[in-house]
Amino acid sequence: MNFQDKTAVVVGAGIAGVSICLALKEKNIKTVLIDSDSGPAKHASGNPIGVVYPFLTKHKTAESEFSLTAFQYFLSVWKKFHLKDLVPHVDGIYFLMDTKESYDRYSHSIISHQIPSHLVKESIEPFSNSPALFFPEGKSISPVDLTKQILRLADPQTKFSCKLLAWEKSKEDHKILCQTSEGEIKSDYLFLSQGYQFAEDPHLGWLPLKKVRGQILKIPEQKQTNTHGILYGDYITSAIGGFQVLGATFDEFKLEEESRPEESESMWIDLLKKLPKLSSEWGSQNPRLFATRVSYRTQSQDRSPVVGKLPDISQLDLSVKYQNLLRNANKNMQIPYYESVGILNGLGSRGLTHALYSAEILVSSILGEPNNMHISEKIFNSLKPDRFLIRMWKRDQLT
Ligand SMILES: Cc1cc2nc3c(=O)[nH]c(=O)nc-3n(C[C@H](O)[C@H](O)[C@H](O)COP(=O)(O)OP(=O)(O)OC[C@H]3O[C@@H](n4cnc5c(N)ncnc54)[C@H](O)[C@@H]3O)c2cc1C
Repeated sequence: MNFQDKTAVVVGAGIAGVSICLALKEKNIKTVLIDSDSGPAKHASGNPIGVVYPFLTKHKTAESEFSLTAFQYFLSVWKKFHLKDLVPHVDGIYFLMDTKESYDRYSHSIISHQIPSHLVKESIEPFSNSPALFFPEGKSISPVDLTKQILRLADPQTKFSCKLLAWEKSKEDHKILCQTSEGEIKSDYLFLSQGYQFAEDPHLGWLPLKKVRGQILKIPEQKQTNTHGILYGDYITSAIGGFQVLGATFDEFKLEEESRPEESESMWIDLLKKLPKLSSEWGSQNPRLFATRVSYRTQSQDRSPVVGKLPDISQLDLSVKYQNLLRNANKNMQIPYYESVGILNGLGSRGLTHALYSAEILVSSILGEPNNMHISEKIFNSLKPDRFLIRMWKRDQLT
């Protein structure tokens, strides 16, 4: 299809928003990217170092299949655009299987998902002596540089310090009218990727997304240290630019922006316990003195991202009750949509791995070309915002 005369607005210049811009660039759609902050990657996507690897489970699930495909998609974009020469990174991630249960759960994933050995193999992580999954192409990476490089490739018109205040569908021509702090923008498509600030948009208030606080420590690179990133519940990254990152805490209840020194200390103690050979190399240190950064993930109820056409819940026919449907098989839940409005949010703790693939799925689906991605219906449905509506409908929670 030819989309050359079409225009899009993307809201949010984190990893999600710039990934959408890249997918739109491939379709030749003229795009404006707006962000209320002064530049890209100032919020969740603004940590100094993060880790890229797929989330696996013992047996195939929609979540693990999606994550593995997203990881492979990330690697294909990485290769296609020669990002290894442009984004500071170190290859290699260990995922510890240091209990009987975790070994049982994760060691089977290689067979159940039929993963080739260039992507993952069983190994022993040297600082813990524990069995681990080793992802040779997994990465410790700078999320800020990754976001900036994807933005450079996508090359949209950018408007920073420009906040989306409200949006609606125009009654005259079906275009989308965005009211921003810098004036009105009219476009054919609107893509919403505001991260944890989603709740300020009244069209999104019904989505069961949560803002989750995370704290990381920025540790000066140690003389003898881990070459590869290690995940053990928390994670310690490889060193990049003279620092390593120890991350990340998870608190969905108390969300203050101030750093918590006691949290730094307990992360440090856990690290030393889990990786004892690392601690003997590093000697005694005061973790309360390390620099910290607090930022916020957006986590969905079922922990999968929210990717798809946005339902228009103001148009829902609430007279159709799920209980009635059981008696009257002719009735179905008809979901009304904003046809040209898409959402990419709820990337949780794995946005770096999942954003590019999610954006590709989103753009293809809004443009009516979902089959180009060869994505299974099971995975597609597990990402759509509709899943929450259907769940709420079944529980009679829609009023
Ligand atoms: C502590 C911590 C550690 C993490 N570690 C990892 C990791 O190691 N690996 C990994 O894969 N993931 C990690 N994550 C998760 C990852 O960082 C996120 O999933 C990802 O950055 C989310 O990107 P985003 O674009 O959705 O959100 P954001 O980066 O928060 O971007 C949203 C943007 O929208 C803008 N915005 C909001 N409202 C408006 C508005 N009304 N108008 C205009 N602009 C607006 C904001 O200014 C912001 O720039 C971590 C997250 C945290 C919090």
